Amino acid sequence: MGKHNNNDNHSKKEEPFPYEFGGPIGALATTLALPVVVMWLLQMGRVGAINFDFVQELCDDDKCAALTLVKCTLGLLSWFLFKVLLWYVLPGPIVQGAPVHGDKKNTLPYKLNGHLSFWAVVGLVFGFQIPLNEFLYKYFEPLAMCDIALCLAMSLYMYTNSFHPKGKILAKGGDSGNLIYDHFMGRELNPRWGDFDWKVFCELRPGLVGWMLLNIACAQEQLAVHGSISGSMYLVNIFQGIYVWDAQYQERAILTTMDVTTDGFGYMLVFGDLAWVPFTYSLQAKYLVNYDPNLSSISLGIILALHILGFYIFRGANGQKDKFRRNPNDPAVSHLLYLQTKRGTKLLTSGWWGMARKINYTGDWLMGLTWCLVCGFDSIVPYFYAIYFCILLVHRSMRDDEMCAHKYGDDWLEYKRQVPYRFIPGVI
Ligand code: NDP
Repeated sequence: MGKHNNNDNHSKKEEPFPYEFGGPIGALATTLALPVVVMWLLQMGRVGAINFDFVQELCDDDKCAALTLVKCTLGLLSWFLFKVLLWYVLPGPIVQGAPVHGDKKNTLPYKLNGHLSFWAVVGLVFGFQIPLNEFLYKYFEPLAMCDIALCLAMSLYMYTNSFHPKGKILAKGGDSGNLIYDHFMGRELNPRWGDFDWKVFCELRPGLVGWMLLNIACAQEQLAVHGSISGSMYLVNIFQGIYVWDAQYQERAILTTMDVTTDGFGYMLVFGDLAWVPFTYSLQAKYLVNYDPNLSSISLGIILALHILGFYIFRGANGQKDKFRRNPNDPAVSHLLYLQTKRGTKLLTSGWWGMARKINYTGDWLMGLTWCLVCGFDSIVPYFYAIYFCILLVHRSMRDDEMCAHKYGDDWLEYKRQVPYRFIPGVI
């Protein structure tokens, strides 16, 4: 059994390690299952059936298949390096992140230029009218396959690198001593090359913006094959494009999320950020290329209204907490009621956070549901996102609840008494 050991230079505590995700066996199963699920979904999205001969379909011989995989790998590496270059050359404010492991004297600097970097990519794609479908749509599956291999290589690098030099700041949940588990959870909290923070960079840039490019490639493919872009395709591109843009625009908010403050940078986040997000979140756009349901304007209007409601809740709740955490005296939030905790921080008990403890998740899920609804009801495949995201958010809310109970003790119980609902006020 693993043992709790928060930091290389801390003494080992002989307590059972608080495993999550089913411990090492769950971590191993998830590590192996995730790539299969991604490839399976991609096949379902394109042909409505499972077919893993996608590289051979593009090629006449083995030499061509090998070349395709090499080209895809180089393409992915070039994209990653291009985003690193933009991070490096574009200007942006340097801000201090959240206290590392709650130590207010220990914060790390982050260069924030994700928003500018996003517009640089959009400007290039639309300015030069780059036919993304000719590379991204055509090579969707081989790209995903190569991306998965690169993610595995990156997470193994992150794991081995976490041991050298000694004394690195480790994630509390990723230092069990079990190789498989720690590789999955992420051992080092903030792996960096100088000021380049691998985790924050990967959370927002190559995968998230890559997802938007895959969506655009699908719209271009629909135009090329069917002569027009459907209402559903426009909506899914706009909805998801706004989601990606919003994350870049609110870049600073990523610094206080659980991923950045608590989780190590291991396979879970590497794969999630760089493979899962771009290649499964683009499933609806990919599906629409071949199976557009030709929804009526009324249906599209209802979906649009639902999306606006979801975005309003999502942005309202996240923005309110972010403002409050940064400056509780900000006029936009100073009127809100809160619970003063013994830990020093305040917990909002009115406004969005007084309605339900995870109302931000509800808004996010509602938006995700509208991405699926634009695909109609002929297949369950595009609804994968709503189903998966529901499971993710319920599980994540339970993880956060446990962590907050640990952080806040009795104050968290009092907060839960004052705000009894988790997702929907008065219901659940
Ligand atoms: P939250 O933004 O909900 O942050 C949780 C933290 O907020 C808690 O640990 C606590 O930290 C603080 N907090 C909780 N309640 C209160 C309160 N009443 N007042 C003030 N602070 C409070 O969690 P996430 O980081 O998980 O999510 C952020 C957004 O990202 C969500 O909208 C979520 O839907 C989205 N998301 C999207 C994903 C995707 O794949 N599309 C994946 C994961 C998240 P403390 O008190 O220490 O500040």
